[in-house]
Amino acid sequence: MSSKGRGLLFIVSAPSGAGKTTLVERLVELVPHLRMSRSYTSRGARQGEADGVDYNFVTRDRFDAMAAAGEFLEWADVFGNLYGTGAADAETMLAAGDDVVLVIDVQGARKVRARGLQTCAVFVMPPSFDVLEQRLRGRSKDSEGAIQRRLQVARDEVAAFTEYDFVVVNDEVAAAVDRLRAIVVAERARLQRMQRDADTIVETF
Ligand code: 5GP
Repeated sequence: MSSKGRGLLFIVSAPSGAGKTTLVERLVELVPHLRMSRSYTSRGARQGEADGVDYNFVTRDRFDAMAAAGEFLEWADVFGNLYGTGAADAETMLAAGDDVVLVIDVQGARKVRARGLQTCAVFVMPPSFDVLEQRLRGRSKDSEGAIQRRLQVARDEVAAFTEYDFVVVNDEVAAAVDRLRAIVVAERARLQRMQRDADTIVETF
């Protein structure tokens, strides 16, 4: 695009274990001017995770202070840990004309929408409950109780898919990334987004 206006805000939600982070990481590698927002969290880093890469890891006190100061676009308590989207971080990317993907839970998506922000929200679903259970057991060293809790939350979360604009089933990574890419490309071609470029072209006639 020649004239970059303000960027678009995409939301991707999915139950834990549906593979949304992998999909969005691949998506932002493929699509120019699309950036993933890095959330703040009060949870400890897991093995292999790095501060400033996977999340901005902060103490609970620091998180509470940021929340009290209104520094989050949204924040939520997920599995007893706090997660939030830095308002200034997202604003900087959007103002620069980049599109931003927030990988946040269903509660967070509701909060962003409640602010009246225009969003394109995508719900990523695993192909079935059984597949989700297998993925959760396969990847995690979580206790049986923790896995059961994630599965219960997943039951509630998948029921919220009707609040979203698009649904992508993560049956196969490459195919699911392709569908996400198609959604971004289609959103970028909307009249509202293309108005300036189209006006410029019309002026040449
Ligand atoms: P995990 O601890 O497995 O990385 O993430 C747990 C959950 O927190 C996921 O469902 C993820 O989408 C959600 N999450 C991550 N960052 C944010 C955020 O900034 N806001 C909200 N509301 N949820 C988030």
